Amino acid sequence: MSRGTLARVAIAWCLILLVLAGYWTHLQYSHETQLQQARTEMQLRAAQTAHAMALQTSTLIDQVDYIAQSMGEHWLKDGKSDFRSAISVAQEMLPDGALIQVAIADKHGDIVFSNLTKDNESASRISIADREHFKIHRQRQPPRLFISHPVFGRVSQRWAVQFSTPIFDKGNFAGVTIISISPEYLSRALKDIFPEPGNVAVLLRDDGAYLARSHNLDKVLGKSVPSDRPFVTSSKLQSGSYEAIAPVDGVHRHYAWHRTPNAPLILTLGLSDDKALAPVRASIRASMLQNALGIGLLLLASIWITLLYLKNRQQTMALVSSSEQLALVLRGGNLGTWDWDLTTGKPQFNKRWVNMLGYQAPQVPITPSGWEKLVHPDDLEQVRVALNRHLRGEAAQYEAEYRIRHHDSHWIWFLDRGKVVGRGPDGQPLRIAGTVLDITARKHAEAAEAEYHERTATLLQRFPGGVLMEDAEDAVVMTNQLFCDLFELPNAPETLSGLPHARLRDMLGESRADWLHIPDGRGREQRKTIEVTTPGGRALEIDWVPITHEKDYLGRVWLVRDISERKQQEARLTALATTDGLTGLPNRRSFMSYLESLLRNGAIAGRDSGALLMLDLDYFKRVNDTYGHPIGDVVLQHTARIIRDCLRESDTAGRLGGEEFAVLLPRTSLEDARALANRLREKLAGSPVPTEKGDIPITITISIGLTMLAGVSAKQALSQADEALYAAKTSGRNQVQVWLP
Ligand code: GH3
Ligand code: MG
Ligand code: MG
Repeated sequence: MSRGTLARVAIAWCLILLVLAGYWTHLQYSHETQLQQARTEMQLRAAQTAHAMALQTSTLIDQVDYIAQSMGEHWLKDGKSDFRSAISVAQEMLPDGALIQVAIADKHGDIVFSNLTKDNESASRISIADREHFKIHRQRQPPRLFISHPVFGRVSQRWAVQFSTPIFDKGNFAGVTIISISPEYLSRALKDIFPEPGNVAVLLRDDGAYLARSHNLDKVLGKSVPSDRPFVTSSKLQSGSYEAIAPVDGVHRHYAWHRTPNAPLILTLGLSDDKALAPVRASIRASMLQNALGIGLLLLASIWITLLYLKNRQQTMALVSSSEQLALVLRGGNLGTWDWDLTTGKPQFNKRWVNMLGYQAPQVPITPSGWEKLVHPDDLEQVRVALNRHLRGEAAQYEAEYRIRHHDSHWIWFLDRGKVVGRGPDGQPLRIAGTVLDITARKHAEAAEAEYHERTATLLQRFPGGVLMEDAEDAVVMTNQLFCDLFELPNAPETLSGLPHARLRDMLGESRADWLHIPDGRGREQRKTIEVTTPGGRALEIDWVPITHEKDYLGRVWLVRDISERKQQEARLTALATTDGLTGLPNRRSFMSYLESLLRNGAIAGRDSGALLMLDLDYFKRVNDTYGHPIGDVVLQHTARIIRDCLRESDTAGRLGGEEFAVLLPRTSLEDARALANRLREKLAGSPVPTEKGDIPITITISIGLTMLAGVSAKQALSQADEALYAAKTSGRNQVQVWLP
């Protein structure tokens, strides 16, 4: 987030908080004013009420004063007679229960009458000469009503406020009339006006002594208000107000007081602050709550707006930076851009796009048809189809690869991508924008690669052997038909591409799977060649070649060749080299090497270990001379057949050359060897060779030299047998001679 944005948010918040603080202060001030106004109204009301009640009280006092004076006059005139009825009249003048006592004291202060005592009882024992009011009345001129502190009556035994007036008889002080009024009555009268304990009305003497109180009277009787009250400290003030916490009940009140005009009394009214201001306070509280709620909501809204603003700024910044990034990417990615306003039909191309085609800015073909003229005619149709599909909304975006003519008139390849960026209310595209990338190099590379693949595929198919190539992840890359044929796989070679090696082994089955064994060392292994024979009898040569590039192992190739024919050829050549063509018996070299290997391996040892026979036809030259060479060959073949027929499985015969044969008899004693040699000789002599029709069969004989093989070399054995044969020839032929040392 930028510093400017944060500063703007901070300033806005400071202003909001400042306005809210101002509003809150104003609200507090207006509440205070409201409260003050209510307080003033309350005080005004209290003052008015106090004044009214003071006037009412003075009426009561006038009444009591009148009653007291008329009682005094009555007493002077009539004495005790009918005095009680006068009292009854007075009682009727006052409310019920107000009058406690009417008493008369004589000029000495002795009570001479009290309505509370019976006529025959004496009240003279009681004197009030020491009482304040009596003293004042005796001295004071002019006579005036005196109101006492509440006193506990000596006769009445009750609290009473005594109203007293002097009695003058012809100008001389003759006594005092005392009218005791119940403070409870006075209090009740006050309570009628202020029934709630929160507000109080109090009647006081001007020295502060309580006479009556609308509530808690019992707690204040005999006591005075604190001496700092304004009506106590200043006797000149007629009325006033003050605030105080009453010591009696601890309630904070606004007091208004007023003096009664005809007596030294104060009427005080105390209105409870809490009570009087409760509605105002309640309305203030409600207002505070509403305002706090309002401010809270306002703050929440402000926070929300701030967050929206910050998010919007962030998105704007991100958009700005992403469009900068986009510009960078376009520049770095060598992308050309275009923007086509479909309503005006005018496309716009950026500098890069123009330069890609080798144009300079003023030469740009700026109409869609101008652009279409540059596109290769073979590619134009597919470009139009792709573009229209996207414009109609059938494709998410437009994408096409096409050739376009360069200013120098050669073709270059474009990868063109675009997207509709504005549509009308009916979905009609209004604007489309996109990018182009010059992919000429890639296209050429792809073409080259395709050609390379084509060549490789051709090579593979024409290759005179099976080929299997796998990658470093052991998956089949490619194979050819011949491979499938040689491995007897029914699959087409293309279907095997991508097949994991293990899966291919499964397909080949257990017997052939090992033919495709991958040596553990992979790349480190040298190429390996194995020869195998298929169940069908074919011989295969399998070459395993690892593919590496600078120490990296990239995969491997198996090259499989059918070598059955070669094998057969080899076998044929081997047979030709070791077999005598005329008789089919091993030739001299083959027979000798067999004899040598037998003697070398030590298979011939001990007395009965074996024997060698050397055989030569007698007078064979004559046969040739008489019947011709071909018949001589037939005789040789006949002789070979007889020899073979007479031999045991373990015996081997060979043609050493001409009409000379040799026979090897392993594990044979001299007697057995001699017997076999004679059997052979007799058989040949007894088996004339049939000749052409009419001619007499040719009878031939053979001479045989025999030698035992224990402890001799092949050469020695041959020479000894030859010696024995010579002996047989010289001894008359058609016989067996044993070599003797
Ligand atoms: P003997 O051994 O009894 O002393 O008399 P011989 O007639 O058999 O004498 P010799 O062993 O010297 O003659 C061998 C003859 O065998 C010479 C040659 O013409 C003939 N011969 C050698 N090889 C072949 C052959 O492959 N085919 C034919 N038909 N004759 C052969
Ligand atoms: Mg011979
Ligand atoms: Mg011979």
